[in-house]
Amino acid sequence: MLIVMHHQATDAQILAVKQAVEALGLRAEPIPGSMRTAIGVLDNQGYVDDSAIRELPGVREVIHVSKPYKLVSRDFHPRATIVEVGGVKIGDGEKVVMMAGPCSIETEEQMLTAARQVKAAGGHILRGGAFKPRTGPHSFQGLGIAGLKYLSAAGKAVGLPVVTEVMRIEQLDIVCQHADMLQIGARNMQNFDLLKEVGKLDFPILLKRGMSATIEEFLAAAEYIVAEGNNRVVLCERGIRTFEKATRNTLDLSVVPLIRELSHLPIIVDPSHATGKRHLVPVMARAALMAGAHGLMVEMHPEPEKALCDGAQSLDPKGFEKLMLELRRIEDFMAELAV
Ligand code: PEP
Ligand code: MN
Repeated sequence: MLIVMHHQATDAQILAVKQAVEALGLRAEPIPGSMRTAIGVLDNQGYVDDSAIRELPGVREVIHVSKPYKLVSRDFHPRATIVEVGGVKIGDGEKVVMMAGPCSIETEEQMLTAARQVKAAGGHILRGGAFKPRTGPHSFQGLGIAGLKYLSAAGKAVGLPVVTEVMRIEQLDIVCQHADMLQIGARNMQNFDLLKEVGKLDFPILLKRGMSATIEEFLAAAEYIVAEGNNRVVLCERGIRTFEKATRNTLDLSVVPLIRELSHLPIIVDPSHATGKRHLVPVMARAALMAGAHGLMVEMHPEPEKALCDGAQSLDPKGFEKLMLELRRIEDFMAELAV
């Protein structure tokens, strides 16, 4: 961190800033310049909360050189992390992982049918929401615990691990009993209490990018989980909110290569929530793999036109099967490129 003082800052003000830095247990090194003095802050292990410093008299600007995340960064941990979910490995050097299933668990029958279709097409992890974060309170909110039971039974019946969203700390116990991976949805990416709590578990976490989160905020959210001891975190780009209305969100694919540089955690892409449109899903899924995604999360419903949630962006079983065939070919092509 670098503290830049105003050019008319007095020696007493510079001294007060130095003392405030030292009070945080850090070293302060004044760097006098021809126009103004800057104070370098040393010995910090990560991001420094500058609230005790930036308002002090004479301070012009505080520049953070170090990032608000450390444990999830490549600098700290150069080797890629592989996250295992019920025997399925996600990360560098592993096969591309497909997580698929309906947006919401609706009935026992619907979930079992979807599970069979995902399995038959070659999907690796079954998804389905039981606790749904809906924009309005009058929309279907999910089946809750009954849904969790249908999901875990369907996963077991076809031999696929399952991922489902958890919205509140109080749901953690029950969701862990029925799921193999916990999803933290976009709306909860900065629910710091929830992040800390899942950080205390030895359980794989799928952390979706918040709708308006920068890459730095996304990684800082992952840092909350890892800082508590759980490094089994998979990141998921699911589109961000921009001025564009033609798609549900704007898929930020550049995040994939960037995160691969900045972090050792695996990154997957959800083209369903990113586009909101079924016909765009396969194209963006292909693009995601070419960008280097370690996996995908795709919504597929046995009968999308009857879906209680997100039918317009859900593939039907045939469309999903076709996508899986295409993805295998892209994966082979990417493997060829790598040699
Ligand atoms: C979901 O995956 O069902 C979901 C609600 O996604 P997001 O949190 O990305 O909106
Ligand atoms: Mn959905």
